[in-house]
Amino acid sequence: MNAIVVKNLIKDYEEINILNRINLIIEEGEFFTLMGPNGSGKSTLVSIITGTTLPTQGAVNIHGSDIFDEPNKVKSLIGYVPQENFTSPRLTGKENLLYFAQLSGLSKKAAKEWTKVVLEKMGLSDDASKLVSKYSGGMRKRLEVATALVPGIKILILDEPTTGFDPAARKMLLDSLLEINREGMTIFLVTHIGEDAEVAKIVAFMKNGEIIVQDSPSALKTKFKEQNAIDIKLHIRNSDIHRALERINKGRRVIETKEGYKVYCESPEEIFPLILSYLNDIGCSASKFELNPPSLEDIFFFHTQEKTQKKKEEEK
Ligand code: ADP
Ligand code: MG
Repeated sequence: MNAIVVKNLIKDYEEINILNRINLIIEEGEFFTLMGPNGSGKSTLVSIITGTTLPTQGAVNIHGSDIFDEPNKVKSLIGYVPQENFTSPRLTGKENLLYFAQLSGLSKKAAKEWTKVVLEKMGLSDDASKLVSKYSGGMRKRLEVATALVPGIKILILDEPTTGFDPAARKMLLDSLLEINREGMTIFLVTHIGEDAEVAKIVAFMKNGEIIVQDSPSALKTKFKEQNAIDIKLHIRNSDIHRALERINKGRRVIETKEGYKVYCESPEEIFPLILSYLNDIGCSASKFELNPPSLEDIFFFHTQEKTQKKKEEEK
């Protein structure tokens, strides 16, 4: 069964095209991640899928129901965690949950039981009686995921839930999502962070209102396996070194990192001795060299570059 089917979706604001013929099929039980830079149209797409925004053209089908023909049925199947915080900081975590439970029509007794279950699920049982104003960003987002876990939903959609999180908070949220997914929930996670996409079964890259690739992380990594990166740890960084590394790398991408430089190359065995010899010549010794396979973040970059390049060539 398909959980979400999006067909030829177009969204224009005034004269400006925001979504350009989006097609998407997400199977039931999938962990799907939509990755794209700011402004690429991710939030617009999920707000249409959740029935919050109307498209200009196209169709969206959820578990076999059209979102325009059966909006209430569709809404009862989707839990939605929007980008902006929406829980009340003046209430406790538990009070927030009871409020949302009542909005969704649960009886008092059912609401109390449900609150207990979702607090436990999101690792918030010990903080249930604290005011949300005292919560960390990670805790508040986990509470908001809890509010979305209304009984009966089959799809959980989250719009950039980990933005601004430290690695520990990010891991905690992603682990909870993986657990919820294991229990059968379809997850649709929107992010602009490559690390978030690593846990997905299927990842789609979005750029300028179009989905430019959709595949599993492992298939993408196999496809782009030649895009290795040499990580060099250096004490000194300056534009001379950066330019020299680019020259050695025949003009291919070299980026400055927190610790030194990252050199993207197809044949590291060829480039590596040249880099060593150059650093030796300028009397600069690297404290670490590491050859790393491409991350999804790297692949996203290469993919969008490749597409841009192809388009430019077509336009010539
Ligand atoms: P993302 O979530 O990927 O950052 P959005 O879907 O929020 O991207 O926005 C995509 C584009 O649509 C942006 O250029 C944004 O300015 C524009 N946009 C979003 N909402 C509106 C609106 N209500 N009116 C006009 N333009 C909008
Ligand atoms: Mg957004």
